[in-house]
Amino acid sequence: MNNLRIGLPSKGRLAEQAGELLGQAGLKFRRQDRSLFARVSELPIDITFLRTDDIPVLCAEGAIDMGITGSDLLDEAGVELTTRLALGIGKCRLSVCVPEDSAIQTPADLDGSRVATSFPHVTEQFFQQHRANVHLVPLSGSVEIMISLGVAEGIVDLVETGSTLAANRLRILTDIGQYETVLVQNKQTRRGDIADRIVRRLEGVVIARAWSLLEYNIPRAKLAAAELITPGFNSPTVNALEDTDWCAVQVMVKRKQVIDVMDKLEAIGATAILETEITNCRL
Ligand code: AMP
Repeated sequence: MNNLRIGLPSKGRLAEQAGELLGQAGLKFRRQDRSLFARVSELPIDITFLRTDDIPVLCAEGAIDMGITGSDLLDEAGVELTTRLALGIGKCRLSVCVPEDSAIQTPADLDGSRVATSFPHVTEQFFQQHRANVHLVPLSGSVEIMISLGVAEGIVDLVETGSTLAANRLRILTDIGQYETVLVQNKQTRRGDIADRIVRRLEGVVIARAWSLLEYNIPRAKLAAAELITPGFNSPTVNALEDTDWCAVQVMVKRKQVIDVMDKLEAIGATAILETEITNCRL
């Protein structure tokens, strides 16, 4: 019973994404019939499936050593945990929202109003800082319909694409914070060695998902300009070519920027520009 215990969301999109991420990092486990526990093969790790919003408290209390949850839920729980890694998924913001046609301009204008939210602690702190006294309506879901139900004048809710707000004819007044899915750890973790190994493995997958490997040939005279366009994760690898006026470059480029970077490299004379997707790495 000296295994590292990792808490994972038991259902929903985050459960699927967390499972995929761990699988890519070589943590193989099978969950049987909605069971609450699973054993990772070939590593001293036990998985416990929990409600995502309980993971911060259960990790702080030592029921699990590490957990995957939203940084929004960490803030709301107000617990002391170490964030080991941002996982590059579940990016969203927590926003104060009001009706599209409302005259409200600032958070202070909500003084004396009712605000519905699933984040009562974060919301209370925010309005205190803005010297607004609001009546909180704490709820566990469907916050976006509370204004039309006549329950509140404003809401505080997570926003990803903004389509839920648009469908409910609401607009963002201001953001309280930016959040994403994170791997957390408590101070009393029993298997620090295994925890560190898992962090390194997941880091390799998270970086591989966000970056591509780009290769190209460039005249030596243009190498400095090319390195400005592709500075790389650390620095580019430059190899000699038989034609001594030319060299070959291998470099990591953010996936989102690859097409734009290709245009720029081509414009300064690069040839044979190739993108290779990487599935895992250690840098
Ligand atoms: P959207 O319509 O894309 O702006 O998504 C907003 C809806 O999805 C709201 O009901 C949110 O509560 C929920 N949502 C968005 N992002 C997240 C997230 N990272 N974690 C949990 N719920 C989220």
